[in-house]
Amino acid sequence: MWNERDEAQAGTAATAGRLVVISGPSGSGKSTLVRRLLARPELRLTVSVSATTRSPRPGEVPGRDYLFLTQEEFARIRQDLLESAVVHGALYGTPAEPVRRALAQGLCVVLVIDVQGGFQVREQVPDALLVFIQVPSLEVLETRLRVRGTDDEATIARRLTAARREIALADHYDIQVINDNLDRAVEELASILIQNGCGASKSHD
Ligand code: ADP
Ligand code: 5GP
Repeated sequence: MWNERDEAQAGTAATAGRLVVISGPSGSGKSTLVRRLLARPELRLTVSVSATTRSPRPGEVPGRDYLFLTQEEFARIRQDLLESAVVHGALYGTPAEPVRRALAQGLCVVLVIDVQGGFQVREQVPDALLVFIQVPSLEVLETRLRVRGTDDEATIARRLTAARREIALADHYDIQVINDNLDRAVEELASILIQNGCGASKSHD
């Protein structure tokens, strides 16, 4: 949970960072974009590690990619989550304490979460910046999901249906960025983040 005291602490510290939500359909390029942004020295960013009840995929590292929990473990930490939602049949949530600590250190904290979670964050932390990653078209999205090669046909079909639902809510976000060309989208996002207080040299933001 996030309360008024947290809000006041995060909001009044001289160096307090900004909470940045990044949402968009699966395959829109959120992870790729965030990886590229984290490598930019002109940005002062960290990314939140979510908890989930889904199983790890090959190559995913517990504690780095997600905190992989059982249903029971997830239920036990539920009150310590800033937001949570069921996405594609599994539970996901953002542990509040690491976010709180990073904000107090002046870092911008990126949450790569779905739109249900994004709306909960907006309720709890009204000055959070909500960014929606758009794809040029659903056809392009489908191609990217196939090229990524992590999902079977049924999963791809489910993700495309979910994508339509999420895209319909994009207008509620503060900013939309189209991930057409990767380099261009990274540049656009980097300058949005600098304009919103996430530059490494805050006095020059
Ligand atoms: P998400 O995290 O939103 O599910 P990913 O970052 O996994 O999406 O990207 C999905 C796939 O699309 C990956 O294979 C990635 O390399 C590719 N991709 C990301 N951005 C672009 C782009 N601008 N052009 C072409 N392919 C892209
Ligand atoms: P994946 O399992 O493919 O990594 O993620 C599936 C979806 O869950 C993506 O839309 C991702 O943004 C979302 N997601 C990941 N972590 C969280 C979280 O902590 N909270 C919410 N609400 N959604 C999340």
